[in-house]
Amino acid sequence: MSEQKLNEVKITQIRKYFKKNDLFLELILSNYELFNIYIRIDYLKKLDCYRLSWFDLDIININNIDRYLSIEYISKLNIEDIKSICKDIEITNNQEEIDNSNLVSLYINTSIKNNNKLNISFNQFIPVKLGLLSDIFIIIFANMPKKLESFLYELHASLRGEVSKYKMGNKINFNINKDNLENIFTKDIIDIGNVIILKNQVKYLEYIYGRYYALVEDNKKEVVIIDDDNNIIQMKCSCNKSICPHMYAVIKSIRNNQYHKFCKVSLKKNNESLINKILDLNYFLCVGYNENNLEIINNVGEIMETSIVGFNKEVSWVVVEDDEKNTLTKLLMKFEK
Ligand SMILES: [Zn+2]
Repeated sequence: MSEQKLNEVKITQIRKYFKKNDLFLELILSNYELFNIYIRIDYLKKLDCYRLSWFDLDIININNIDRYLSIEYISKLNIEDIKSICKDIEITNNQEEIDNSNLVSLYINTSIKNNNKLNISFNQFIPVKLGLLSDIFIIIFANMPKKLESFLYELHASLRGEVSKYKMGNKINFNINKDNLENIFTKDIIDIGNVIILKNQVKYLEYIYGRYYALVEDNKKEVVIIDDDNNIIQMKCSCNKSICPHMYAVIKSIRNNQYHKFCKVSLKKNNESLINKILDLNYFLCVGYNENNLEIINNVGEIMETSIVGFNKEVSWVVVEDDEKNTLTKLLMKFEK
């Protein structure tokens, strides 16, 4: 079964599980930066309150839905806000064409300006002409775990004029293992790329959920991400060029089988059950550290410095995967009280 079909089955099961509830809102992020998240808000008549429930579709087992359920009670004021925003939203028929990548579907059981229920799908970014939706997403994500906040920024990229930051490069028909590299790269780029290879500057290279991630360190650290979907590739490099020597060096390293796994860290959560800790796949790739910070790759494929110690003066990170020397584990131990 394809991943998409499987997720549809899971969503059907979740809806069944909630069928006695009064659905107010349903938000589905499908294949969104490779995540699949299902969120809903229900009105609970008996308790006279609203409850937000969400699932990471990639990890749930449909036979044990309740085990994977995360819930948050949500104030009626929030619900009133959502309803009043919807009253001003007008949806016309000339919607843009959508596809299955980074798909966002939102349904709200309340009337919008032209009297229909709000039921809309779009790809990756909130459409500029539906900017009013922004506040609804802010309310929803304010009731979600902080680790999902990066999706909120991404959803808003069109409204903040930051779309290019999130876009992967153009789709190129290319077999990453076989096709002639000269079809993509000019001679100048190939020459520089070969120097990168010669100097062993591709420090990390790993294939994670359908995507190659690599760190190239020449003058500075650059992150290369390559999606490979049945001989159609899309590339992105933090140096911001559409085609660059870093990409060339990474493809060469893939062909030479020169993989080197990233260290991985995740945010520490104290009051989480063991099952959630084990199932938590939301780690960050870590590419280094300096004095008090870890260097991690954020969801836009850029290197970001993040403080090792949180505001409560405790270490905020746990090591999910370390190098052979346990460098990160040892580093974090130094900061433990
Ligand atoms: Zn580059």
